[in-house]
Amino acid sequence: MKLLIDGEWKDPESGNYTEKMNPSTGEVLEKVPAAGVREVDEAMDAASSAFWPWYELGSKERSRIIMRAAQLITAKRKELEDILVAENGKRRIEAIGEVDGVLDQMIYYAGFERKITGDVAEGDNFDRKIFQYKVPYGVVLALTPWNFPAAMVARKLAPALLTGNTVVMKPSSDTPHSAEWITRKFLEAGLPKGVLNFITGKGSEIGDYMVAHKKVSVITMTGSTETGQRIMQKASANMAKLVLELGGKAPFIVWKDAEIKDALKTLLWAKFWNAGQSCIAAERVYVHSDIYENFVKKFAAATSSIHVGDPETADMGPLINSSALKSMEKYVSAAKEGGSKVLAGGSRPSLSGKLASGYFYLPTVLEEKDQKASLFQDEIFGPVTGVMKVDDLDSALELANDSKYGLASYLFTRDITTAMKAAERVRFGELYINMPGPEASQGYHTGFRLTGQGGEGSAYGIEEYLKLKNVYFEYSGKPLSINTVRDDLLR
Ligand code: NAP
Repeated sequence: MKLLIDGEWKDPESGNYTEKMNPSTGEVLEKVPAAGVREVDEAMDAASSAFWPWYELGSKERSRIIMRAAQLITAKRKELEDILVAENGKRRIEAIGEVDGVLDQMIYYAGFERKITGDVAEGDNFDRKIFQYKVPYGVVLALTPWNFPAAMVARKLAPALLTGNTVVMKPSSDTPHSAEWITRKFLEAGLPKGVLNFITGKGSEIGDYMVAHKKVSVITMTGSTETGQRIMQKASANMAKLVLELGGKAPFIVWKDAEIKDALKTLLWAKFWNAGQSCIAAERVYVHSDIYENFVKKFAAATSSIHVGDPETADMGPLINSSALKSMEKYVSAAKEGGSKVLAGGSRPSLSGKLASGYFYLPTVLEEKDQKASLFQDEIFGPVTGVMKVDDLDSALELANDSKYGLASYLFTRDITTAMKAAERVRFGELYINMPGPEASQGYHTGFRLTGQGGEGSAYGIEEYLKLKNVYFEYSGKPLSINTVRDDLLR
């Protein structure tokens, strides 16, 4: 793997690399360059110099390049799917779905060509107008997470580039390969040099320097709330615009009149998709007391039947790394010590051969009675969830809203009054009623509270990359009269 700076693929000047493991086997997958501040400076300079010609190219031609990149990805998509399975441990079927998502984002955003409009406001006098232009900010710093390492790259690159910004991208150190592969496709598609630069290295080492860089105008980051808060502090040095897509703790409410089979199927997806490592994962399940015993029994039985192992063939693959695995063990033992009962899973699976060194954990369901327990408050980000009995809608909605995070939420009910009440009351950026996620390209993916600020997707997501600029224009042809300046001063 190499760094891409101003159109050239380079080794890091320091000669330093970090190791990236295959989560299914614990074996070293590849060596990742550790960029230093000098390479960050070079990438920022390149993106900054490339800005004007890229902006002046116009959105029609920029869109063509994004579409060509999408075609090149389509032609070789199996390569990207293979990378996702290897570096993330994603199931094959989920890797295929993620590449579909990459293409959907790119095609959707490319469709905004020639659709960026502004306003013309009346001036105070008839022969005056105020033109309000939407213009690109300049250099965008894109920081991506490991859980959807290709889709998050596409969701940032496509709108940033379509609107005429240039980009410095740094992917997660856990999944840099898919981002590098996509970058190569953009170059092959004809992206001019310097428009997209690719840097790898630990966020803990070069992150502060990158986000405070004076050439950065927008920082778009998807990741944890802790990192987002740090970025906010450091970015204040330069007042960069922030789009922060951070943590989640989705409540999943199953009401007494729910279609049980659909609710169960959706819950199994919403909890164990990507081994529970999703920002919209069902992290806490609230079930109406009338159906609680039956529903929870079925959920626990289905969870126990999930086959964990090789992501090529199993129902669920590994966690991303050894610390994620340790974190599951910590949450489950804390829950057990706090009195919650294990209904399914609760340990590592016993796997043989190479998989014995992988980062696997069994899908786990715990019965919880305490809303304040870490199981119901912290973002677990793995295949562990808690279920709780609820009696009335007001308290279910209150419990659902009782979270520092506010990204996704779910409700299963056939009653329109219950559905509409929830739609009004939930304080989450997304509510899925009687259906699974994930978010659509044409939806605005955003969250309340510590889930961050700004959002991605839809025309609202495009706006995040555009700055409103005002041009005041006088065209009467008459001499100006400014009542605080005496005309006789100019004689
Ligand atoms: P993370 O550790 O916060 O890292 C996210 C990105 O920020 C990585 O590229 C990381 O690089 C970089 N980074 C780390 N420290 C930095 C610093 N000081 N300055 C600048 N950049 C820095 O998050 P993650 O573990 O990759 O992802 C999991 C989290 O993402 C979860 O909380 C999940 O909920 C959230 N997520 C949210 C959404 C959403 O749409 N809201 C979607 C997906 C995931 P390194 O890898 O080198 O540290």
